[in-house]
Formats: sequence, structure tokens, C-alpha cells
Amino acid sequence: MSELGEGGNRERGLSGRAAERFHAEGIEGIEGIEGIQASEAVERDLAEGVEPIRKDVDVLIIGGGLAGLALARQLLLRSDKQVLLVDRRALPPTKQKVGEATVQMSGYYYARVLEMEEHLLCEHYMKYNLRFYWKHSAGGERYEDLDQSYIRNLSNIVTYQLDRNVFEAELLRVNLESPRFELYAPATELEVELTGPAAGDARDLARHRFRFVSSEREVAGTAAWVVDASGRGRYLARRQGLITQSPIRHGATWCWVEGLVDIERLTDLDAPEVRKRRDRSALGHVPAFLATNHFCGEGYWFWTIPLHGKTSLGLVYDRSLVPREEVATPAAMIDWVCRQYPMFARDLPRRRIVDWSGFKDFALDSSQTLSAARWAMCGEACRFSDPLYSPGGDLISVYNTLITDAILTADPVQLASKVRLYEQVARAVYDSYLPSFAVSYATLGDQETFTLRYVWELTVYFSFFVFPFINDLFTDRQFVPSFLRHFARLGPTNRNLHAFLAAYFEWKKAWLEPVAAGPPRHFDFYQFAHLRAAAECFYQVGLSAEEARPVLAEQLENLEDLARFIVAHVSAAVTGDPRALSREFVEGIDLRRLVFDPAAMTARIAGISSGAGNGANAANTAKIAPYPWRLQPASMAPFRQARRAAQEGPEAGDGAGTPEQGAETAALPAATAADAAATAAEAKVPTLAAAGAEQP
Ligand SMILES: Cc1cc2nc3c(=O)[nH]c(=O)nc-3n(C[C@H](O)[C@H](O)[C@H](O)COP(=O)(O)OP(=O)(O)OC[C@H]3O[C@@H](n4cnc5c(N)ncnc54)[C@H](O)[C@@H]3O)c2cc1C
Repeated sequence: MSELGEGGNRERGLSGRAAERFHAEGIEGIEGIEGIQASEAVERDLAEGVEPIRKDVDVLIIGGGLAGLALARQLLLRSDKQVLLVDRRALPPTKQKVGEATVQMSGYYYARVLEMEEHLLCEHYMKYNLRFYWKHSAGGERYEDLDQSYIRNLSNIVTYQLDRNVFEAELLRVNLESPRFELYAPATELEVELTGPAAGDARDLARHRFRFVSSEREVAGTAAWVVDASGRGRYLARRQGLITQSPIRHGATWCWVEGLVDIERLTDLDAPEVRKRRDRSALGHVPAFLATNHFCGEGYWFWTIPLHGKTSLGLVYDRSLVPREEVATPAAMIDWVCRQYPMFARDLPRRRIVDWSGFKDFALDSSQTLSAARWAMCGEACRFSDPLYSPGGDLISVYNTLITDAILTADPVQLASKVRLYEQVARAVYDSYLPSFAVSYATLGDQETFTLRYVWELTVYFSFFVFPFINDLFTDRQFVPSFLRHFARLGPTNRNLHAFLAAYFEWKKAWLEPVAAGPPRHFDFYQFAHLRAAAECFYQVGLSAEEARPVLAEQLENLEDLARFIVAHVSAAVTGDPRALSREFVEGIDLRRLVFDPAAMTARIAGISSGAGNGANAANTAKIAPYPWRLQPASMAPFRQARRAAQEGPEAGDGAGTPEQGAETAALPAATAADAAATAAEAKVPTLAAAGAEQP
């Protein structure tokens, strides 16, 4: 039963009926009315003594974009609440909306939690993971010449490429089928007066008051809960003074072009040649256009996402690395992208642009998202970080799930305790991405560094986000405290690793030759057993909090092992010394105090095995015990790059080593790499150099 019982009557406003008619008759949109006309209408009503339409509901949702419509759907499916949704614009929108790629949490949420699977499969493309590309030495003239990192197999949790407008229209349609849902859109002059927390008895609800104008009538009433889903309108955050600055300073320009941009056809090969390329044995046959394709460079990435009948294209960039004036319009962006990746010049300049938009700065944060005083925020009304990895839909999935559970909690004491916990979960889910977006964005410019970084992030994502989410554990108070404890332990490692990899990237630019000519490098992220182990969590379903805790503990160990491999691999690459992959070196890595310091790496390695120093020889390397890795270190061998002959190193104190230190290590490679390969083969210590010898 609704908390309001009969009070939550379903007398429909004009907009509700109009919206139903729109779906029944297929009329395009409902024209908005201007605020000034509405005010005149209200004044006329007042003069004529017409009473406002009275509405007392359980939940008032402000904003009917993806977040608001999804929350309404979740509440209608999982509760008996009466929901009133108000939007300042007509719904569904006619202007094309950005935010199309789903990942495991959002894909699962929309399909399984919101029960939209059939619609998703019929009206949208299924997504083929994320793929990342870099220009190889050939310069990006054709698709076959690109370096690629990817996962070849389709994920067991289905993900989709959403046409946002189509999906929102369908969510609206199914919501309107419920007698407990009412829509007022467009509406103007919205005023919401929040009350303080409810006191005493749970049934004695402190109700929020609201009023607005829609279809020339004033609507006024009360709501037990108010949820702000007004996107960048940020209705509550502005009024409550909750807006905080995000450290992310990135811009984006995007557009939609007519038809399908099939990236595998951006080539001079004909179709049979494309079909029978030998590298298909590594890449497989799923159309690459189905992926969210990322064409990467230092501090930027360009996406291609297929929608039915059109393709979404967008550039996201760190403003300190890409001049905004060169990419601020779709034509300029396409021109710029064609210069970075000339293969696009075969296609994009000829396409008709059907819609576009852009942001100078898109990241958003707020200091609070949920209150025991029965208000909450979801979607961009509270937070958004960066589109890389598509976390927007994930934030909506997690926050809506927390909000739904809070709304279903009648007891104020329990609610207060849940809100404290859930606020921490919401913060953790957002903050965990910050180092990735604010610290190590430049690493998009290097396949090796980015691959290490992405494998790390995806392994965290699969085990610490997707696994609890599909088990409904983020709303389990037996589980959340231990989740937060484990997560807190991961925090410093995550931050340090991003800074470490960002510094490694800078070091590589200064000390290594560009990628040598040769066949493009194809790397499947699943070569990392750590990542495969995390994806196995998708099959652990129906676990209680007690059963889930050891899974998390095991995954934490898995992640720490992965972090140690990343550090050891980088140390071996920087020093040119295979002993960085030995047990002694690896066990001495302190992930909590990790800094990128080539001199310290060299010194520590020199201390291994009776001070053999950099010039490792067969006798002392044989004494080094190999670390029992969960992957073949050999798999990273294709990323080896030669050292520069003449050193023009970075300045001392920037974390990348002094020129003197660099000169010392830089003098090693010719001798050490060969030496290392020989000694490691003998000692069975996996080395980058030795591994390289095994590669085809
Ligand atoms: C460049 C870029 C790329 C992105 N790519 C992805 C992606 O691939 N995958 C992904 O998951 N996410 C992505 N996102 C994020 C995604 O776009 C957002 O998570 C999503 O659009 C948020 O939806 P929302 O419902 O919060 O906001 P919106 O969809 O903007 O809806 C807000 C609604 O509130 C209404 N409104 C505003 N003010 C008021 C008011 N005062 N009163 C009443 N109603 C009001 C508006 O009319 C609108 O209907 C991307 C974001 C950017 C910037």
C-alpha cells in the first residue's frame, strides 16, 4: 500500500493525458508553454477563484531524463509508491542526447533491474566491449595499421549502445502504463520547500511542499520524498548550496552523423581481403563497430558508437593538452580527428551531421546526495566525472538503487543509519575514478601504459563494483561496512598507481624511441589472469553478505598482485634489469608508498642477489627466485621500445629521475637486454627481454 493510501489519488493532470495520447497516436512531441503565459494563466485562475490541482504523492521526481525515468521505473516495479514526475521540457526530448554506451553495471541495471531487456535487444545495438586504438608507426592511414587493446570475447553481462532518446521514450511509455505514475511536462515555476527530518513516529511524516504550473494550471501539493534528477539544471544542489568543484578539467565535442561508420572499412583493402586478414586469428569476427571504439592520443580520445541509422562521434580531451578552439565545433573536431587518424578522412568529411553539442567543462560534484530528511539526487543533478569508461550510467544505477531502498525504509532511525552508509558508498563509487581522470589522462597517449592502467581499473570494476551490484549488496548493511573497509585499503594503491603510471608515461616520452616500425600490436586485456579472475565474479550470484566477504578479500589479493606486477614490469622496463620481476624485488614493493623513482628502483635492484648491480650475469641471476605470477610476463613483451641514444632527460625532482640517473640506466640496454635474456633463460626468471625472444 502507498504511504498515502487513498490520498495518493490518480487524478491525472492534462499533461499526463497528453503524454499518453502522444504514445497512442504517435504525435511528435508536446510543445512547451512559456513561463510568462503560465503566470498569466495562474493569475487568471486566481482572479476566477480556480483552485490549484492538488497532488499529495509519495515521491516527487524533478526531471525526466535517464536518471529520473529510470528511478521512476524502479520505484514502480519494486514498491507501491505514487510517483509524480515534473520536467521543465516536453518529454520525450527531440534533441539528440549524449550518453549512449553502457557497461556491465548500467547494462545489467537497465536490462535486468528495470526489466527493459526485450526493448534493449530489439531497438539498440548490443555492445562489443570497449576497444582502444593507437597510431602505429604507419601513421593511422588505415584500420589494419592501428595498434589495438581489447577483449575479444563478448562479456557475459550484456551491454548496449543506447539511443538515449529512444530508450527514454520507452521508459516514459512503460512508466505511463502504471496508474501510480503521473507526468507533468513541460512545467514552469517549480518551487519546492523541503522540510526537516521527520520526528518521532515513522508514520508522522514530515512532508515537502511543492507547486508548479503546467498546461496553464497551477499544481500544488506535498511529497514524502523529493528526488532531484534535473541533470545540469541541478535544482536542489543549487538551492541547498551543495555544489562542489570537481578536479577534472576536460572538454568534449560530439555529433551524430547519418548512417553507420564501419571503422573496419576505413582502409584501401577490399572486402574479401578485410575478411581474410591473418590477424583475424587474434581479433576474431565480431564487428568492431559494435564496440565503444576509442581512438587515443595523449590526453584525448575520440569515440565512435553505433546507433540504429546513425553513428555517435565525440572527442573528449584534457584542455591543457588539446586546444579547445581547434575542436569546439563538429566540423573542426572532425577535421582535427582526421589529422590525428587520417583513416577517418576516407569517410567522415562526407557524412551529414544530424545533431551536435559540446561542453567546455563537464565534471560535476556535490557534497551530499542523500538525506534522512527524505530528499536525494541522482544522475547529473549530483555528480558526473568523465565519459571514459562510461561511468554516467553506472552512477545512475547505483544511486537509484540506494535511493529506492532509502525510500522503502519507513523507520526514521533505520533510514538515518542507511543514509550515513549509502552516502559513503555513493562517494566511494564516484571518487574511485578521480585519479584516473584527474591524474593519468595523458597516459591515453601510450598503448603500454594505458593497457596497464585499464586492466587495473577494469579488474577493480568487475570485482568491487559489478560483483556487489548484481548481488544487491550495496543496500545490504551487513555487507557495506566490510566493502568500505576493503575499498579503503585499495584507495592509496589506486591513487599511487595512477601517479606512478603517469610518471612512467612521461619517462617513456623522454627516454625511449617512438614505437618501431613493424606489425601493429594487438593486445587482449584478458591475457591478464587477474582480469579473468575478476570477471569470474559475474558467475557468483545470490550470495549473502557473509558469503560475499571472502570473495572480496580474495579479489583484493588478486588486485594487489596485479598492482605488484605493474610496478615490477615498469621497474624492469625502466632499469632494463630483469631482476625487477624476481620474488625478492616484488615482495619488497610497498604499494602504499609507491613513487616513480628510477634511481630508487635501480638501487633496490642493485641490492638483490649479492649486489650484482645492473650488469646481471648468469651466475648471480640464477640465484634469483622467480615470482609466481598469475600471468605470463612475456605477454607484455610486444611493448618493448628501444632507448634513445642521446639523452635529453626530464628535470630532476619531477619524479622521472635525473638526467644523470637516466644516463646510467640508459647505458644499460644493449648489454643488459641480451645479458638478461640469456641469464633469465638459464635461471627461468621471466624477463621482458627473454619474453620478447619467444614472441612470433
Ligand atoms: C560527453 C559526454 C559523454 C557521455 N557518455 C556517456 C556514456 O557513453 N555512457 C554513460 O552512461 N554516460 C555518459 N555520459 C553521462 C550521461 O550523459 C549522463 O549520465 C546522463 O545524461 C545523465 O542523465 P540525467 O537524467 O541526470 O540528466 P538529463 O538526461 O539531462 O535529464 C535531466 C532532465 O531534467 C530536466 N530539468 C532540468 N532542470 C529542471 C528543472 N528546474 N525543473 C524540472 N526539470 C528540469 C531536463 O529538462 C531533463 O529532461 C556522458 C556525458 C558527457 C558529458
